[in-house]
Amino acid sequence: MQNLDLNEQAARIQDAAETLYPSMVNFLSDLIRIRTYTGEEGPAVERTLAELRAIGCDKVWMDSAGNALGQVGNHKSALLYNAHLDTNEIADESEWAYPPLEAVISDGTLYGLGASDCKAGVAAIVYGAAILKNLKLDPGCSVIAMGATLEEDAEGFALRSLVERDGLRPEAVLLAEATDLSLRRGHRGRCEVRVRTRGKAAHASTPHLGENAILKMLPVIDAVEKMNPSLPVDATFGQGNQVVTLIVGPHTPNSVPGWCEISLDRRLVPGETPASVLEGIREVIKSYDAVAEIPIQKVRSHTGINLDDQAFFPGWLLNTDSPLLAAGQATFKTLWKKDAEVSVWKFSTDGTYSAGSAGIPTLGFGPQEERFVHTPMDQVNLEKVKKAAMFYALFPFIYSNQVRK
Ligand SMILES: [Zn+2]
Repeated sequence: MQNLDLNEQAARIQDAAETLYPSMVNFLSDLIRIRTYTGEEGPAVERTLAELRAIGCDKVWMDSAGNALGQVGNHKSALLYNAHLDTNEIADESEWAYPPLEAVISDGTLYGLGASDCKAGVAAIVYGAAILKNLKLDPGCSVIAMGATLEEDAEGFALRSLVERDGLRPEAVLLAEATDLSLRRGHRGRCEVRVRTRGKAAHASTPHLGENAILKMLPVIDAVEKMNPSLPVDATFGQGNQVVTLIVGPHTPNSVPGWCEISLDRRLVPGETPASVLEGIREVIKSYDAVAEIPIQKVRSHTGINLDDQAFFPGWLLNTDSPLLAAGQATFKTLWKKDAEVSVWKFSTDGTYSAGSAGIPTLGFGPQEERFVHTPMDQVNLEKVKKAAMFYALFPFIYSNQVRK
């Protein structure tokens, strides 16, 4: 496709985005009004499926893990657009500038729980697909919009289920998390590690008969803290880190504790694996008679499926010379005649599975601003949501031309 054609395409996409704008805002407002705590996404999934049908998707379905999916086109190769429907929970409603579930619009900005994380992303990808249907355009690959579940508690778990349980493997993934209309090519990973010491329980009146597991833990805490300066370093993300976040033992204040367990929050650079993380920690704690493991995180979907898996979320980084990144940059430039900013996220996303585990090229682009995520000022600029939808509509044409040929 010549540049002239692309510019013409972009102009038609802009017109369609204007036409569809009221429906897009209506859909986003409805999503905000539905409380969508993690694991309780059912009603928001139903609302998303209804919208995917209304915009004329060629195929609309809910997968086993309860993600909402709508496909445009019937090509074998597909781009997956991912944004999650679940939100974190309201801590104190009195802190909110506007009622969190009312979708108040003021001066072009929509306020409400999940606006910036990640319901505006859902609206943008669904309306990217809607623009394609509205213009009857075929980019040469299918586009699948995914209203994802379970991201806040266990990012990547629901996407893993779609790929590995239901067998849908996209060629590339776009994540509509907060980027403020810039491109993001990765983030650090994270995992939880539990370290346990064993002692010998005894009555607290005769402590010399026991062995205190809490006291045995003290040098272990010191040793794992001292690992920080020697943790793996990445050129883009810097150094990983780990910090003790929890300490537990038996709830018996009148006994010498027979066991003690700490949790470590470990931030990972790309390339670290469960084995490499555990190996380093075990080496440091072995002389203290302590054991380390990565726990299994319990996750149940709103459809009742058990998705329990290791609490390990790998980091990832798309290469600067990646064709997917180039397609993102070209899409941005075609639409707005300037270069996109390219950086990495501070937080973790479903990309931990798509890029970090499954090796599927993954790129971030979304309308929301990171500074409003998980705050009582949660909001999104509606003009930016419209612009993101235009990006998602034009992207597959440029991707098909530049990447797939
Ligand atoms: Zn998010």
